[in-house]
Amino acid sequence: MHSTPPNTDFSSLSLSPTLLTAIHQIGYTQPTPVQTQAIPAILLGKDLRAKAQTGSGKTAAFGLPLLQKILQNREQPKAMTQGNPIEILILTPTRELTLQIGEALTHYANSITPRLKIHSVFGGVNITPQMLALRGGADILVATPGRLLDLVEHNAVNFAHTKTLVLDEADRLLHLGFSDELAKIIHLLPKKRQNLLFSATFPPELDHLVAQLLVQPINIDCIAPTESLIQQRVITVTQERKNALLAHLIHEGNLQQVLVFANAKNTCNRLVLKLAKAEINATALHSDKSQAARNKALNDFKQGKCRVLIATDVAARGIDIEQLATVINFDLPRSPNDYIHRIGRTGRAGQNGQAISLISEEDVAHFKLIEKRMKIRLEREYIDTFST
Ligand code: AMP
Repeated sequence: MHSTPPNTDFSSLSLSPTLLTAIHQIGYTQPTPVQTQAIPAILLGKDLRAKAQTGSGKTAAFGLPLLQKILQNREQPKAMTQGNPIEILILTPTRELTLQIGEALTHYANSITPRLKIHSVFGGVNITPQMLALRGGADILVATPGRLLDLVEHNAVNFAHTKTLVLDEADRLLHLGFSDELAKIIHLLPKKRQNLLFSATFPPELDHLVAQLLVQPINIDCIAPTESLIQQRVITVTQERKNALLAHLIHEGNLQQVLVFANAKNTCNRLVLKLAKAEINATALHSDKSQAARNKALNDFKQGKCRVLIATDVAARGIDIEQLATVINFDLPRSPNDYIHRIGRTGRAGQNGQAISLISEEDVAHFKLIEKRMKIRLEREYIDTFST
């Protein structure tokens, strides 16, 4: 599966028997490279900046050692805390990723008794059940920044004794758009805490922010581009023929589970209709949909009830779809970093995958930039044997 130094197994990473049993039950046999490096560092209480390939097991890399720390803390006498104390705070940029991480951690903690309180909170749904669930606090709270600040306003959370802050997809959270909310949240946390930053991309322009946040961090870099399991393809096409080419690729390749990225919400909606005409069952996922509709779209897609999911970048980060074989960029993402995250929805957990980008005349220069950043040069394919 993942390439790991020989002789490394979970039992050499200072994890407790409880967690080793849990890992065994889940079926992980070997730690991935980021797990091998991050787990001991986190257990030592270090700050961490971990750069690791998409789909390389980052959730367990921070989740397992943090669960162990909670178990260790349980044995210590508790400080008196008012309100609803949060021991570990995990922030992510999207609702879907928040939910996914909460579910993964709950799964890892399944055999721990008494049960841990692990909650996920995000916007777009009623806040009251979240407030009720947080009564008495949480061992782990996974949150999107906006909803977390709403909960702060409602006095639903107390960070006086928060020990660890995790930023998953850290560069996205540190980037403009999220940075104000993040600054507000960090201001509420105790100064002395452990900070863990995870992403597949850490653009250099964020270096100063990362440096401000971390104290004597350990830097982990597990990116190994030559080992990528993702076959990247690029097909040139005119803008007008893109719809037809998309349908053609799905039919011809007999692709059964395809994640298509488009840049605009109305393009997603339009493509659903276009594909329906070609008898391809597709659903759209974007921020104009209700959260219930978003969850349903993703779940239907994961369960194979829907063949094509057409999404904006809300689905670009972190989302783990088991054995997803194909990602198609109907539109190119604006930033090369987003390209890495989008195509990283395939080729996960040791599986192969393909990522196809459809580029029109207007995209040529931009795609060259992406190639430069990725240090790749892809052969341009051209397909003319399909009808529009
Ligand atoms: P993540 O990067 O956390 O989203 O994980 C990507 C996928 O890898 C998920 O489906 C995990 O269940 C799986 N995974 C994580 N760690 C391991 C491991 N040590 N062995 C096998 N699969 C793993």
